Amino acid sequence: MPIREYQAKHRRKGCDKCRLPFERIERPGEQPLRQCPECGGALIRLISAPRVGASRSGADARAKSAGFHKLKKISKGEYEKIY
Ligand SMILES: [Zn+2]
Repeated sequence: MPIREYQAKHRRKGCDKCRLPFERIERPGEQPLRQCPECGGALIRLISAPRVGASRSGADARAKSAGFHKLKKISKGEYEKIY
């Protein structure tokens, strides 16, 4: 089942659940969350990028193997999870 990651759109307004990124296992066909189930605040979805890309730099590969995560800012309040 897919695991999706969410985070509060307005982190200062987020509750203990959504202020930091949290993962949610979703059933097939289930709609993505738009609001925090705890506080009802707006959420953004952290999008996982495709797993392997030929264009990834060596530095990214090393960081990934070391367990780091990297987020790319798409627009105000939206981030793509690179890995
Ligand atoms: Zn919340």
